[in-house]
Amino acid sequence: MKSVKNVFGLYFFILLFLVACRQQEVIELSGHTMGTTYHIKIIRSMDQNLTADRLQPSVDSLLEEINQQMSTYRPQSEISQFNRWPDNQPFKVSSEFMEVVKKALDIYRMTDGAFDITVAPLVDLWGFGKRGLRFQPPDSLKIRKVLSRVGSQYLKICGDSALCKSIPDLQIDLSAIAKGYGVDAVAGLLKAKGFRNFLVEIGGEVYARGLCGSRPWRIGVDQPIYGAPFGQQVEAVLELKDCAVATSGDYRNYFEYKGKIYSHEIDPRSGWPVANGLASVTVIAPDCMTGDALATAIMVMGVYQGLRLINELKDMEGLIILRNEKGSFKKIESDSLRKYLKVEY
Ligand code: ADP
Ligand code: MG
Repeated sequence: MKSVKNVFGLYFFILLFLVACRQQEVIELSGHTMGTTYHIKIIRSMDQNLTADRLQPSVDSLLEEINQQMSTYRPQSEISQFNRWPDNQPFKVSSEFMEVVKKALDIYRMTDGAFDITVAPLVDLWGFGKRGLRFQPPDSLKIRKVLSRVGSQYLKICGDSALCKSIPDLQIDLSAIAKGYGVDAVAGLLKAKGFRNFLVEIGGEVYARGLCGSRPWRIGVDQPIYGAPFGQQVEAVLELKDCAVATSGDYRNYFEYKGKIYSHEIDPRSGWPVANGLASVTVIAPDCMTGDALATAIMVMGVYQGLRLINELKDMEGLIILRNEKGSFKKIESDSLRKYLKVEY
């Protein structure tokens, strides 16, 4: 089915393989959140009478709450208030915010600082944040100056429910982890409502629970083509059951200057966007928050360190796609990725 490979991507794959689920009723929900879209498919069993209309408000209010906690684009969100907060004074946070920050700090330590939510001022400086786009690299002196206020070692947890900055002007950005958290939160809501078979996707980050008809859910991994829309060309198809998958890449959010690409994946240790040949990283993990953060981290770590890390981690697999000079791609798989890869599709 080679022609299918060229036509269907993530969303279309989801739709295509839903045909297999059609003998049971599918509830579909979609909308906008976190500056992107979400899609949910739920296989409804006979004994459930919840409809899309009745579910949508609870999903939307949950996502609204997360946006109000973690969106740097909202001046009154919890994160924006924290970013304006002075140093050395405890700032009380919600339990959800604390959970995400704790996970981010774990991954910061696990990746030797490749993943670092205090990257926020660099993200703004490079034109990938709330301050608006830019089309050429910033001055290197400016980069060094901004770099001096980046580092999760300056972010402390004080007591059970507060965060402190140990330097002024420390700011955080949860964009590399919040979508994954949102996916897990919606999956938790659906589980609590008694659904056993569903797929939740926010901006390409996914959690798949149970089955779609009689088989696992199938998710297409896009070819990392610069500027290509979701799902135009599929590089691999994954079969998932009771796990999450998240992808980070250099091909959707970037600018080009003098023939060089500068993407939104920034190495918080150098202050520069990554330039290590990695085009995308897809991580399969038990939960989407971890997968989301690790995919970003491995983009920064590069192929050798990234592959070593993913192979060391239990219950996690990865697919790294490298871009070579002639524009073709090379796939590198973690040790047991095969068991999730659908070879023929
Ligand atoms: P997407 O948001 O497209 O899914 P990612 O999950 O990789 O992509 O998140 C990238 C975003 O995370 C960037 O736009 C930036 O806001 C932030 N970011 C960039 N580099 C890092 C990093 N090294 N550690 C943590 N967050 C980062
Ligand atoms: Mg991420």
